[in-house]
Amino acid sequence: MALLDTIAGKLLLDGSWTAASELLEVVDPATEQPFTAVARATGAEVDAAIAAARRAQAGWAATAPSERGAILRRWSDLIFANVEELAALEAQDVGKPLRHARENIYFAGSLFAYFGGYADKHFGVTLPSRLPDRRGFTQREPLGVCALIIAWNVPTVLAAAELAPAVAAGNAVVLKPSEHAPLAPMALVELGRQAGLPDGVVNVLPGYGHDAGAALTASHGIDHISFVGSTVTGRAIAHAAAELLVPVKLELGGKSPNVVFADADLDVAVPAIVSAITENAGQNCNAGSRLLVEDAVYDSVVERVAAEMQALRLGAWHEDLDMGPLVNAGQFDRVVGYQQIAADEGARAVVGGTSAEAPRPGWFVAPTLFDQVTPDMRIAREEVFGPVLVAQRFSGIDGAVEAVGANDFGLLVSVWTDDLSRAFGVADRVRSGQVTVNEHGNTAIVGFPFNVTGDSGYNHGGGYNAMNEYTREKAISIRLLPR
Ligand code: NDP
Repeated sequence: MALLDTIAGKLLLDGSWTAASELLEVVDPATEQPFTAVARATGAEVDAAIAAARRAQAGWAATAPSERGAILRRWSDLIFANVEELAALEAQDVGKPLRHARENIYFAGSLFAYFGGYADKHFGVTLPSRLPDRRGFTQREPLGVCALIIAWNVPTVLAAAELAPAVAAGNAVVLKPSEHAPLAPMALVELGRQAGLPDGVVNVLPGYGHDAGAALTASHGIDHISFVGSTVTGRAIAHAAAELLVPVKLELGGKSPNVVFADADLDVAVPAIVSAITENAGQNCNAGSRLLVEDAVYDSVVERVAAEMQALRLGAWHEDLDMGPLVNAGQFDRVVGYQQIAADEGARAVVGGTSAEAPRPGWFVAPTLFDQVTPDMRIAREEVFGPVLVAQRFSGIDGAVEAVGANDFGLLVSVWTDDLSRAFGVADRVRSGQVTVNEHGNTAIVGFPFNVTGDSGYNHGGGYNAMNEYTREKAISIRLLPR
């Protein structure tokens, strides 16, 4: 574990892994036991990291874009060369099966290759003039020092999706991974160092949100905030950004539905629906946590989904089964609490419903499907962030659109149908950042923007548009004087 040896107990300041006076334990969610520790950054280290980033940023921005791109592509190569170690770090830290972590690492690697290619292919526009002696154009410039605060659930992908475009565009970054899963993003940045990133361009501060995170978002040394996390913390971050008057992008929670019409191919839909709520133990912002089914096939879909959920095998990350435990005790209490809320509200557990019989030690919960759910119930409206699915009926396109719109989130809507008119009948009318048809979420298109709206956040997309998000446009005009 060469990468772990480098990062354990340390934080990355100005190109050097540096010991801190305090440590945070890193716990395996399957054993509930610590297996390593990272540094705990505090305000002093936040100031030092921002200062290092400020010193590095101008030189990095002045580096030829092709050279920046070459470093990102080397970074990508190193990620692919270290997939096994990175995947093991992410899997043990979050608790997910190893093969799922491996897929996350491959995706992260592809993001550095994608934005490495973008570094010297991102530019402004020339503008037509009504006067022959005037010329106008725009140029794209980096924002400066970007604060990046991420959640713990898919930490390597979340870090890569922001780091790659930010760095490709000539920014410097201070990254605060979540205290609950810091290892793989830290190892990812070490590979960037090995790829040739100049000192200070990326600094990493593991630590508590209320401490290091709050200090970072209160500093006048930053020019932009990117945040991935809960809606509650997102509101606090938006306030902090307003105080500093810096732009912010927020990627928050969700309550995303799979909308199944009667003509859907259920052999394709059912496994995807089960995976959408049990992959990463349902701890995904875009988890398919609502199952909306057209009347005619409701009973058969519920029955088939329940059977597949019942058959899932739970185990530790290295057993590489179907589903791991939740990330920590707080998440466990939260999910078990929602199972109880659903029961109290009168929902019926078709499968799971209580986690009392799940194996211990380990924060395992039973994959759960509730039906007899009404739109006003909390279990139908609030994000659980666990493997808990609620089934509801609808009738026709209007009924589907109404059911989708029953909460304030706006992340992903997945439509299952053989009829494109039905698919667009939903896609065109729902308030959602993303719509996917006959699949739950896009996994194939690297440049696909992760757009969000409503309580799921704003200003976020990434994908093909990320270089715009990490640059500002400067408009320049020239008057040609007579000669
Ligand atoms: P939190 O909002 O609790 O934390 C997210 C990050 O913010 C962590 O790094 C946390 O640090 C930090 N943080 C907490 N408080 C503050 C603060 N006051 N100032 C600055 N930073 C702070 O979310 P979770 O980590 O619990 O993640 C789960 C949530 O994230 C879910 O709601 C999920 O939907 C959402 N999410 C959204 C995604 C999306 O793409 N839209 C992707 C992944 C998750 P620490 O944890 O170290 O204390």
